[in-house]
Amino acid sequence: MERNKKRKISIIGSTGSIGTQALEVIEKLQDKFEIIALAGGKNSELLKQQAEKFKPKYISSSCEPEKLLGNHNAKILQGEEGLEQICSNRENDIILMACSGRIGLKPTLTAIKNGIDIALANKETLVMAGDIVMREAKKQDVKIIPVDSEHCAIHQCIKDINQVDKLIITASGGPFLHKSIEDMKKATVEQALAHPRWNMGKKITVDSATLMNKGLEIIEAHHLFNIDYDNIDVVVHPQSIVHSAIEYKDGSVIAQLGLPSMHIPIQYAITYPERFEGIKSKSFSFAETARLDFIAPDFEKFPTVKLAYQAGRTGGTSTVCLNAANEEAVFAFLDGKIKLYNIYEITKKMMDEHTVIQNPTIDEIFEVDKKVRELTRAYIQKM
Ligand code: MG
Repeated sequence: MERNKKRKISIIGSTGSIGTQALEVIEKLQDKFEIIALAGGKNSELLKQQAEKFKPKYISSSCEPEKLLGNHNAKILQGEEGLEQICSNRENDIILMACSGRIGLKPTLTAIKNGIDIALANKETLVMAGDIVMREAKKQDVKIIPVDSEHCAIHQCIKDINQVDKLIITASGGPFLHKSIEDMKKATVEQALAHPRWNMGKKITVDSATLMNKGLEIIEAHHLFNIDYDNIDVVVHPQSIVHSAIEYKDGSVIAQLGLPSMHIPIQYAITYPERFEGIKSKSFSFAETARLDFIAPDFEKFPTVKLAYQAGRTGGTSTVCLNAANEEAVFAFLDGKIKLYNIYEITKKMMDEHTVIQNPTIDEIFEVDKKVRELTRAYIQKM
């Protein structure tokens, strides 16, 4: 980030949890950023307010364009085409991909092909197409800076990946850490959504309760840092102060610590490699924190993590299947159609039945995604 020059940024998913927090960071660092475009989903009212406040050149949503008319001069774009237009606009220095779901994949690839750096918060991009995305990023010399707290921590710890022996990803353990498997089997939607540390969207909160979120993060870490699955460990750390760590070949362990706030990793990703005071609320105190606990993950209680390792090692469309089946199962759980524990069983069943395509094209990835979702929904219907 050149000093005295405003960094031009667009946010895909500006009305979501990461997007709104990113705008809080940008508001605090007004003289550092110029917003080119904001794209939201269905919350047209909030997107309109954001347009009035932050004055982007373009806004885009999945709603009818009339809903975005208001007291702003932004050009109104729409749908997937709108996202493509934003992500191919080379005015952008960086694009924050903060939308959730598979909708993030194609725009990310478009931005990379146009040589635009990516601050990546969208999980599906690397879980579904990590090989393609990272290969393209390397080819275009584009930076992919992770926003997720764990990957952001690892990004901050690594100087030279060739000297790293392993990554240690921390997991808060979610709301069922100290509950029995029996309690987990009876869990209600409300209990699954009561995450002890992080306030996030519903899908990711359920994934945190089953620990599938950690599974997806293992796959992302493999792609982001080009490291073997055998060299990625998970440790449960309920306080969420150590956001992740790495161990160098000589045995030195470097961890990144801080209060659990998404503002910090978001700001890191969009201002990298510079650092500013920004939105930091208070200094971290070791003395006040007093203790940090670490526990080996219970793979019997949280078998989703093993499933994710298996999908990652298999490679190809295996991770596409994992992601699609899990997401459909999570939606069914949120709709009250299945129990929390069924999410794992359903995902495993779909993985067992999936015929893996190695080195898939983007079109094949989307076909598999669609097919697995249909199969998963049909299977849940019959349960
Ligand atoms: Mg995370």
